[in-house]
Amino acid sequence: LLADLEADARVRADDRGHVFHSWSAQALIDPLPVAGGEGSTFWDYAGNAYLDFSSQLVNLNLGHQHPDLVRAIQQQAGRLATIQPSMANDVRGELARRIAQVAGDGFEKVFFTNGGADANENAVRMARLFTGRRKIMSMYRSYHGNTSTAISLTGDPRRWPNEPADGSIVHFHGPYPYRSSFHSDSPEQETARALEHLEQTIVLEGAGTIAGILIETIVGTNGVLVPPPGYLAGVRELCDKYGIVYIADEVMVGFGRVGEWFAFQAFGVQPDLITFAKGVNSGYVPLGGVVISDRIASHFDTLSFPGGLTYSGHPLACAAGVATLEVFERDGILERVRDLGARVVEPRLRAIAERHPSVGDVRGLGLFWAIELVKDRETREQLVPFNASGVDAAPVAAVAAACKRDGVWPFTHFNRLHVAPPLVITEDELERGLDVIDRALSVADEHVAR
Ligand code: PLP
Repeated sequence: LLADLEADARVRADDRGHVFHSWSAQALIDPLPVAGGEGSTFWDYAGNAYLDFSSQLVNLNLGHQHPDLVRAIQQQAGRLATIQPSMANDVRGELARRIAQVAGDGFEKVFFTNGGADANENAVRMARLFTGRRKIMSMYRSYHGNTSTAISLTGDPRRWPNEPADGSIVHFHGPYPYRSSFHSDSPEQETARALEHLEQTIVLEGAGTIAGILIETIVGTNGVLVPPPGYLAGVRELCDKYGIVYIADEVMVGFGRVGEWFAFQAFGVQPDLITFAKGVNSGYVPLGGVVISDRIASHFDTLSFPGGLTYSGHPLACAAGVATLEVFERDGILERVRDLGARVVEPRLRAIAERHPSVGDVRGLGLFWAIELVKDRETREQLVPFNASGVDAAPVAAVAAACKRDGVWPFTHFNRLHVAPPLVITEDELERGLDVIDRALSVADEHVAR
């Protein structure tokens, strides 16, 4: 790679001078100027390439500059670059039909949004209108987006500065076998106790006041928390018992991340509403939406749905979405994710956990894994505290820096490193990235209590 330091300085100056960044103290950040990308790799202007083990924000499922997606967008731009949502459009209709088909029986309709947060906003609105109730339940340790209702639903520190939250939202504890809120010592016990807690919360809040339970099928940013066997089936049962709408937030895990079209399909359950975004078109053009079960969709057959967006079902975004589904089917993406996850990632991470005393737990599915770092395996004291920043976060920041020096861009959050590469990553690239993580974890080992 050739360095272009003039371009580097120019991009940096415009960014630092004028771009106001998300979730940041503006003077304390140093965004990397990115010159380009291809597949699972992107590069800067200084001549450094990075293997992306984070798929950007866990959305770049088909990698950078996938020729099929680029071509679909170019062709659509040449044909009809935009059309408003109240008109019928060929690619919008085709994408809705294909998404409903992969969602399975009982789903025919899709409401398109611009991303994940507004998908959750609209799913909540549907649940409220359908049930005539107001409250929504969501988990602590969750992220659902940055609009008003979605940030209120969120169960992590990103909600705090945005409070007072919407008063109609109730948080509960989900299952987390490694750090159980319920003092359980097996996945079976965790499932039983987490469901008992959920039912008690429903009853105490007043079952007749609760419109929906909105949960990530596998909690994403907050830890790749794979639900223990039976948990989601139990949530489904409680929803049926109390007339509550089950909303599955599949924004991060939908479209192949765990080797299924939607992650709930790995757990044998069926939600009432499915929210998606990110992987639906790898974020090439912003797109999200709600897949609506027939029962809820028919509620709006004669009752007007009071919601819409100027860019709902944008043709450029939908063209990239149709191309995405075609690539998934043609290239067997779901099968390859299941294979690489089970055959390469899982055994490598288990071996890494054996070797490094700083690794307390590894868990995941498909190409979606977390490495949870601790100071002490016995007490499970976190390597850095919950909500760590600045010096508190330094040990994990040092691991991330070691990965970057070795050409891998990792995803870190509090005391965890996540492994979430593009689904098109080659086996060699995957092995190389895991080698780098393996070496970088020696930095974490230095902080382990002896
Ligand atoms: N839901 C989940 C599970 C997410 O991970 C995210 C984004 O990271 C969102 C919702 C919000 O999506 P968006 O940023 O597209 O609004």
